[in-house]
Amino acid sequence: MRMPRFSFHIGLSTTLFCLTSIQGLYAQTPTFLNGERDVVNSSLTSTEVSHTGVRGPIASSEAKLPVKNGIREVIPQKYKERYEEWKNEFLAAETGRRQWELYEHNDAFMLTIMISDEDKHGAGTSKYMWDDNGKLIAATIVLGSRINEGYPNPIYYPVMNALAPDATAAMVKNNVLAAAKIAHEFGHVKQVAGMDGATYRLQNQLIPLYNEILLKNGRNTKDPRLVELAAKMGGTPVEIWEDREYWGEANAMLFLRDRITDQSAHRELFGRINRSVALYARDYSERFEQIK
Ligand SMILES: [Zn+2]
Repeated sequence: MRMPRFSFHIGLSTTLFCLTSIQGLYAQTPTFLNGERDVVNSSLTSTEVSHTGVRGPIASSEAKLPVKNGIREVIPQKYKERYEEWKNEFLAAETGRRQWELYEHNDAFMLTIMISDEDKHGAGTSKYMWDDNGKLIAATIVLGSRINEGYPNPIYYPVMNALAPDATAAMVKNNVLAAAKIAHEFGHVKQVAGMDGATYRLQNQLIPLYNEILLKNGRNTKDPRLVELAAKMGGTPVEIWEDREYWGEANAMLFLRDRITDQSAHRELFGRINRSVALYARDYSERFEQIK
């Protein structure tokens, strides 16, 4: 059964799996950035200040590192071994390899990947930066230090939840779960890169405003002010959040399609995913149905 939307929203800050969600619903105005490469360093610091709830903050010393385009992996020594295992698992699937190479060889984009001890089983993508033309030029993925464990709920994470051990223990190793979480985050980057930066920032600006009114008006979503805000943003905050999360999940599903090659395991896994999508994400089923 689907959770009532509003109570879900209220409980969100304690039940979230993905940091993107926190950012999407509660972030303050994201920083507008100049497209010049040489300002990216200083901008990293200002972005840090402008966001709330960001895990694994970029230390000021790190912000002074030379700018590197492509993929920048900031992994503490103690986590290097497990990180390499997760990454290799992600790269073992064609979807993972293709997406990794896309960013690795992109001289106009910097993807930073970090590991954090906070929210060990979760992950999140934040610190998006755009140039003056609205083109995404940077993003940071923060992985929990134990993303090889922990299955998020089937309502908003129908793909990752389908890896839960009761049905798939024999066919899926823990690193597949970790790699699926990496794929989910790559899905967020892909989605944001594919949309207009101004729209994304507008959503993040108006969402807190929407929520503030909602909390004071007796939770009346028909309030003309909220209707107007939703029209400007292209949806209610929860709809926007769902849309973002389900794009992450669709990318995790692409990864699993390529990675789970055993036919019966594939059938069972995709059966579980499709059942959860039909139950909880029917409005978004099209994006999952395309993946077989
Ligand atoms: Zn997510």
